[in-house]
Amino acid sequence: MADTPAATAPLVLVIEDEPPMQHFLRTALESHDFRYVGAATAREGLAQATGRNPEAILLDLGLPDLDGLELTRRIREWSSTPIIVISARGKEQDKVAALDAGADDYLTKPFGLEELLARLRVALRHAARAAGAPEEPVFELGELKVDLAHRRVFVAGGEVHLTPTEYKLLTVLVHHAGKVLTHRQLLKDVWGSHGAEQTANLRVYMTQLRHKLERAPAHPRYLLTEPGVGYRLRTD
Ligand code: CA
Repeated sequence: MADTPAATAPLVLVIEDEPPMQHFLRTALESHDFRYVGAATAREGLAQATGRNPEAILLDLGLPDLDGLELTRRIREWSSTPIIVISARGKEQDKVAALDAGADDYLTKPFGLEELLARLRVALRHAARAAGAPEEPVFELGELKVDLAHRRVFVAGGEVHLTPTEYKLLTVLVHHAGKVLTHRQLLKDVWGSHGAEQTANLRVYMTQLRHKLERAPAHPRYLLTEPGVGYRLRTD
């Protein structure tokens, strides 16, 4: 082997029952500065998750002994380790179910290596922030600048005035930048316990935000739609 990842490299647990996929992921991770541990069943995956304390988990939904959704829920009972689901199930409702069960992200097989690594980096950054690493007070992406400390938003240097709800929606997306947020998660974070009744409003506010922040609101560069699932704020 050409490179052995350093002992301090992030440890990724891959729970996947197909040997060729395990092999592909092991090679990919170890050649990109991640450490790897594998599990071929949910039972083994749970044991590795508790015993090895990985920094991230890649999880196949179709496991021989337990459905990956149920495993996601079980891991979430005690752990906030980022879980990225990798699945052949590409339907929108499968993505929503995985994200609402507590997964951080979802990749449909077959997926590209670059995309996997990008999602993994986003998940690790997000976990580091959630663990108490200070959040950057200013979020910048292309022409968009969100000054969280002063509650001010700029596009190409000019200040944009947002309503309180538009600003709340934007900050929820900024806090989870790079991650897909389901409609349900956004509704809960922006409107609280009465959020479920606001589905139509979410669409309205997203449209308003795009008109204020995007050059071409119909072809957004920052506020991306994940069809049938939710929204994602781009990070790069
Ligand atoms: Ca499988």
